[in-house]
Amino acid sequence: MSEPLVVVGNGMAAARFVDELAKVALGRYAVAVIGEEPRLAYNRVLLSSVLAGETQSHDIELRPASWWRDRGVTLKYGCRVSEIDVGRRELKIANEESVAFSRLVLATGSTALRLNLPGAELAGVYTFRDTRDVDLLLTLAAQKKRVVVIGGGLLGLEAAYGLAKAGAPVALVHLMDRLMERQLDAPAADLLKSLVEPKGIKVLLNANTARIHGTTRVEGVELTDGQRLDADAVIFAAGIRPNTALAKEAGITVNRGIVVDDHMQTAAPDIFALGECAEHRGVCYGLVEPAYEQARVLARHLAGGPDSYGGSVVATNLKVSGVSVFSAGDFMGAEGSEAIVLKDIKRGIYRKLVIADGRLTGAVLVGDVSDALWYLELIRSRQSVAAIRGDMMFGRSFIRKEAA
Ligand SMILES: Cc1cc2nc3c(=O)[nH]c(=O)nc-3n(C[C@H](O)[C@H](O)[C@H](O)COP(=O)(O)OP(=O)(O)OC[C@H]3O[C@@H](n4cnc5c(N)ncnc54)[C@H](O)[C@@H]3O)c2cc1C
Repeated sequence: MSEPLVVVGNGMAAARFVDELAKVALGRYAVAVIGEEPRLAYNRVLLSSVLAGETQSHDIELRPASWWRDRGVTLKYGCRVSEIDVGRRELKIANEESVAFSRLVLATGSTALRLNLPGAELAGVYTFRDTRDVDLLLTLAAQKKRVVVIGGGLLGLEAAYGLAKAGAPVALVHLMDRLMERQLDAPAADLLKSLVEPKGIKVLLNANTARIHGTTRVEGVELTDGQRLDADAVIFAAGIRPNTALAKEAGITVNRGIVVDDHMQTAAPDIFALGECAEHRGVCYGLVEPAYEQARVLARHLAGGPDSYGGSVVATNLKVSGVSVFSAGDFMGAEGSEAIVLKDIKRGIYRKLVIADGRLTGAVLVGDVSDALWYLELIRSRQSVAAIRGDMMFGRSFIRKEAA
């Protein structure tokens, strides 16, 4: 008889995990997926394109209902799991229904942070995490409301772009001295700023929000330097928090995320975690590629394979039409590394390759990202770049065949 395996969360990590498991252990487990969002798993990354009007919400489903059915998966969506009983191997759904498991996979993702500011509870304060948020933001955009986006990382920029594209006046307020500081060095971030501002986004750097003004609804945002921005809405895009409460209340070890080992196993036997809710070797990833790598490892592990997960090299692409930005690996350059830089600000091009011990360890590209995947592959494979060092800045097509 198949062992009951339950996945909590019906997001991107869960969908990929089921896919990988079906490839290597079809029939071994009776799989049930329980998710809180009231729809089939969808590609969350594409929410930015939905907001920008470049993709339709109904086109972002990862798999049709028939795909799940064909794999014998029991799907419960619109259902929140409220409790795990580790000893009895049982979990509770919000309507008090109990579900038994022999293996449990937690794939509960993250929640967008709401900053603890005066006024944060006012009507007109939003986040950007799921389809419900996007529907609300699309309504704001259609009404051309004045919006302040708090946070100049990837999500903040993509939210600001989508809203500005729809004609809403948008100010983007960022605490740091440069945009996307976790992915870009200063010259790349400066260039990015000059490329997004003509798209209707007013960028304020070194800008610390003191409070949100309004009586019942948002009326403005005040910065700590006293500057006041008029606004009808505020969007928090200032980070995410892994959803760990379920695990924590069940007595499973949690730091920032749910702590897992190299097999994605938590501190509790037969309970695993993956994706944004998991913390592996002290790292919680906020990107989808690590979740996919973890999904493959866990599926193979549950099929009896020797696979283990050693961490991921992360890469980021900004999804703002006409502004190509890519960053991967050690983009700042650790001590002892060297950087090759190509900068043509007039043409909107910046490239930086970081090399350490004869290998490519990081890259930043702005303007032309056509070689991004090639650089990423060089970083991930850790192969020597000694033979191509002189030419690789100009892209793959410049590399002589014998050297590549
Ligand atoms: C607008 C946007 C753009 C993004 N762009 C990029 C990008 O360009 N590149 C990139 O790599 N990443 C991007 N990301 C991040 C990426 O979407 C996430 O890394 C990825 O979705 C993580 O997958 P996950 O399954 O771990 O979490 P999620 O996709 O968040 O899924 C978790 C699911 O679990 C459910 N859940 C939580 N608690 C419970 C419970 N108790 N019971 C039942 N269900 C529960 C949640 O409702 C959710 O549906 C973006 C994210 C957003 C919001």
